[in-house]
Amino acid sequence: MIDLSSSPLALGNPRARSMDEYRESYRQSLAEPERFWREQARTLSWFHDPYSILDVDVEEVDFSWFTGGRLNAAFNCVDRHAAVHPGKPALIWAKNEPGEYKTFTFRDLKHHVGRVANVLKAHGVRKGDRVCLYMPMIPETVFAMLACARIGAVHSVVFAGFSAEALRERILDAGCEVLVTANEAPRGPKKVALKAIADAAIEGLSQIRSVLVARRTDASVPMRAGRDFWLDDETAKHRSTCPVEWVASEDPLFVLYTSGSTGKPKGVLHTTAGYLVYASMTHAHAFDARPDDVHFCTADIGWITGHSYVVYGPLVNGVTTVLLEATPNYPDAGRLWEITDALGAATLYTAPTALRALIAAGDEVLERSSRKTLRVLGSAGEPISPEVWTWFHEKVGHGKASVVDTWWQTETGGVMITPLPGVTPCKAGSATLPFYGIDLALLDDEGHVIHGGEVSGNLCVTRPWPGQARTLYGNHRRFRETYFNRFPSLYFTGDGCRRDDDGYYWITGRVDDVLNVSGHRLGTAEVESALSRHDAVAESAVVGFPHPIKGTGIFAYVVLRPDTPVESAEQLIGALKEQVRHMIGPIATPDRIHMVPGLPKTRSGKIMRRILRGIAAGQREGFGDTSTLAEPAIVESIITTVLGEE
Ligand code: ATP
Ligand code: MG
Repeated sequence: MIDLSSSPLALGNPRARSMDEYRESYRQSLAEPERFWREQARTLSWFHDPYSILDVDVEEVDFSWFTGGRLNAAFNCVDRHAAVHPGKPALIWAKNEPGEYKTFTFRDLKHHVGRVANVLKAHGVRKGDRVCLYMPMIPETVFAMLACARIGAVHSVVFAGFSAEALRERILDAGCEVLVTANEAPRGPKKVALKAIADAAIEGLSQIRSVLVARRTDASVPMRAGRDFWLDDETAKHRSTCPVEWVASEDPLFVLYTSGSTGKPKGVLHTTAGYLVYASMTHAHAFDARPDDVHFCTADIGWITGHSYVVYGPLVNGVTTVLLEATPNYPDAGRLWEITDALGAATLYTAPTALRALIAAGDEVLERSSRKTLRVLGSAGEPISPEVWTWFHEKVGHGKASVVDTWWQTETGGVMITPLPGVTPCKAGSATLPFYGIDLALLDDEGHVIHGGEVSGNLCVTRPWPGQARTLYGNHRRFRETYFNRFPSLYFTGDGCRRDDDGYYWITGRVDDVLNVSGHRLGTAEVESALSRHDAVAESAVVGFPHPIKGTGIFAYVVLRPDTPVESAEQLIGALKEQVRHMIGPIATPDRIHMVPGLPKTRSGKIMRRILRGIAAGQREGFGDTSTLAEPAIVESIITTVLGEE
């Protein structure tokens, strides 16, 4: 029986206040996992309690958490908070134009979610159906996600920067029959014609029955009669009360396609209870979340960080969350700081790629703001170099706010390696120590566990955790092969990692990115970090290329800061080589360094190294699936710079 009179907040769980307390709780989490996770699960509101905590079928690579339980994610994120503090802000929308905000309380959120849920039902969506959301960063996106959850439907959010082709592929793969989109999406100075792209994506696709269009701007767009409906017209037809669909713990909550930096996108599937327990707990502990916090995560909802730390984590914990529509550099590089001050954000969670761009803009814009409310600064998505880490800590956080470099993946549901703010002593560039319940191992290429400190290897997780993906949508075999074949019965992350004498973990990049130079193993991230130490360098990417003597040579692509006076290119290249030699050793000295106008990145900001590897090897075309590239034209200019005109 759900009792809303007692505090339903996960935030009530005790936090470690010292390293001894962290170590003790961590030890317990591994020594008595069932007891530990049963305790965590109590922070959710259950319609029916689970009778079992974890069932694993090793052969089948099948994990079932909290079996027997029935609950609802939207109820946990919205209703239970609306019942206790209806007037508390749940969502603050920071619109594209500076200074424009819109606040939704938990009561508002409940009404909107209920209406949209009723609309979905009216359009034939039933429990288990997949609904594609091709949406910008607007409140309707959050409403639609939670509306799906409320009726037991499965959302598949496709990042609004994706092309029609990429969207179509994902709609087909997940078998979506309803698509929710918007007429247009303001994005910095531009407007993206979302509906037009969506139309192109589903051209001739009878699978899509209804397209619901949120009205973000005044732009009128072609609406196909019988298929396309304005979302506001539809919601106006429905009341806001929508009965909750109590789903089983292992019923799917969402499908999310990974960013695609390493090949064909995978439809990662997360289920309800385990994901929610893990999102809740990691949000509470990694950000030291407090009830009156304003949590500001800049990630797009199209990525896992947006799912777990814009929507589910903060909301399940009853914490106010910010939805950022603008880009971090619109209208200028001071936007994040301005929002931080305006809303009094306690936590700011962003990505190194954004930070690098903001650093390059200079500190003057930063100094226009106070940022005095910030307590925790989070980073995710790629390694954060010590320089960027230090800038984040000293400049953005005045040396007072804690930096949490969080390592995790779409597949892990929530953060896996992270410092606990104010507790874990940090080392710039290391994500530090594993989260509760997470048991890590480093393995050599032959599959032996490497013990001790000062070692590196393939990063694996040795036991299940509630937030882990359960399968790839419609392709369990690929799930097994991708994650569980390389090192039998262990979850293989695909990342290389070093562990130091203090047990701290340092991600060295994807294993594909570890170079074997004359028999020495070098992480590309290390070389990049050494290059970025040079004042002239804004960004760099390092890849291997076939080398007659070394086996693999080191090839560095370097993007210079716009404002740096460049001596001769030759001098600069010499200085960069010297820098790497000095910082890592002669073995790491790049064989070739090329100045390029930009790097090929996915829309989530990740460098597509396979393209750079191809170019370094002399390849001009045939780079495989490049549909997720943010700026395809950059590839041509890199080819011309490196390989010359055809
Ligand atoms: P795909 O799997 O399709 O290639 P992707 O791996 O880029 O895409 P995500 O799940 O968004 O998609 O990213 C997870 C990866 O990002 C990790 O495996 C790791 O390589 C990198 N990463 C995430 N956080 C960190 C971090 N704090 N430090 C270093 N690397 C990180
Ligand atoms: Mg990945």
